[in-house]
Amino acid sequence: SSPLFSAIEMAPRDPILGITEGFNADKNPAKVNLGVGVYYDDNGKVPLLECVRKAEAILMEKLAPRTYLPIEGLAAYDKAVQELVFGADSAVVQEKRAVTVQAIGGTGALKIGADFLQRFSPNSQVWISDPSWENHRALFESAGFVVNNYPYYDAATRGVNFAGMLDALKTMPSGSIVLLHACCHNPTGADLTDDQWTQVIEVVTQRGLVPFLDMAYQGFGDGIEADGKVVRRFAEAGGALFVSNSFSKSFSLYGERVGALSIAAATAEEASRVLSQLKRVVRTNYSNPPTHGGQVVATVLATPELRALWEEELAGMRVRIREMRQLFVKQLKEKAPAHDFDFVIKQRGMFSYSGLTKVQVEALRDNNSIYAVDTGRICVAALNSKNIDNVIDAIAKVL
Ligand code: PLP
Repeated sequence: SSPLFSAIEMAPRDPILGITEGFNADKNPAKVNLGVGVYYDDNGKVPLLECVRKAEAILMEKLAPRTYLPIEGLAAYDKAVQELVFGADSAVVQEKRAVTVQAIGGTGALKIGADFLQRFSPNSQVWISDPSWENHRALFESAGFVVNNYPYYDAATRGVNFAGMLDALKTMPSGSIVLLHACCHNPTGADLTDDQWTQVIEVVTQRGLVPFLDMAYQGFGDGIEADGKVVRRFAEAGGALFVSNSFSKSFSLYGERVGALSIAAATAEEASRVLSQLKRVVRTNYSNPPTHGGQVVATVLATPELRALWEEELAGMRVRIREMRQLFVKQLKEKAPAHDFDFVIKQRGMFSYSGLTKVQVEALRDNNSIYAVDTGRICVAALNSKNIDNVIDAIAKVL
């Protein structure tokens, strides 16, 4: 054995991917995986959207050579994403104060944002919600930051501990980097109201904090426009702003790794300096992004008929999740009337913090081959008309 490798310890398993490993090995034909972060259709399949299929048909016809993309990605993609994220008619876009670079999914966008911030603001600390997507902490720590939590979820109300969150924001030193979920908070499903966002934007602006909005689920909450509104409101506030977005879920393009990082600055001149440095970060990480996913998304967003189709298909996913929330609550009312699950209807996006305990989650797995995250997070988008009766019966038994 080599002295280099002999001292290396086994890394802990990824908690979420570990659930899927257990699920895959389970022989029970009635098994259900609610641990995932993926949208399944009513047949339990990951959909290939019709708009994607049509865009791919157009691209196949073109038979374009696979040259390198520019460091910042496909120009048509960056433009379409920027307009989607900030609004084509917004001041930041019109005044060329925003820059957008194609990224390797939402994770890649967060990573190049983190590396950029580490280069230019190494002494700032990062604040993420308690709890947050499990990769946020590791990602910013691996970029060299100290990562703290601000209060977010309130188990008692199953909503947001907004007073706690706001108090924490008010004590952060100027220049602190605050990671916020633009919509469909992962893992809790609990989002801020418009009025609460107003207060957050006010404090962030007053204290000179640096907002980093992570938007991985645009369109899964209340619609593309409604979900993106908070980004536009932050942009209007005028300070430095980072936005990572992902098309993994909204285009069902998980493995194509399509996302983007947008940064809004005070002037076009500032933005161009920011872009030049951001390109250095990309260049030293992976040189330039892959072509296919970016071309698919750019084609859909820039072709009115395909874009309309995408919006329709995305609405279909959103509505189906909502229906599953309704059904989940209705059936539990019948089978476990002593327990109140109405909060599940209020939650937004793919997930629900169901309130199930670790012990209950283990019982669901051992007795019924129903897999969920230890924290009680379930993926509502993995429920369907065929598996829901089973799931509800099992939950009613463990309550
Ligand atoms: N941010 C949040 C909050 C997420 O939930 C996810 C994916 O689950 C990501 C970022 C990463 O997205 P991607 O799969 O596009 O890298």
